[in-house]
Amino acid sequence: MAPKLVIEEFIRCTGHGRCYSEAPDLLDYDDEGFVSVRHAPMEFTEADREDAKAAVRACPERALSIVEED
Ligand code: SF4
Repeated sequence: MAPKLVIEEFIRCTGHGRCYSEAPDLLDYDDEGFVSVRHAPMEFTEADREDAKAAVRACPERALSIVEED
């Protein structure tokens, strides 16, 4: 299974936008500036792993994480 970029506690997302600046091909934002992964886990490929990790690191609220599934 593909790894997924998830937001575990969407209440933490305060719409800084730093995550989708780091991973614009993976993440988008809604009309209020909140990351769209709030609504569904985002699968990504190995080619996008570094961008996904950068997005996790960029979030000052620690709202994002990567989940690996077997
Ligand atoms: S950087 Fe964090 S707080 Fe900001 S939009 Fe992304 S998930 Fe939300």
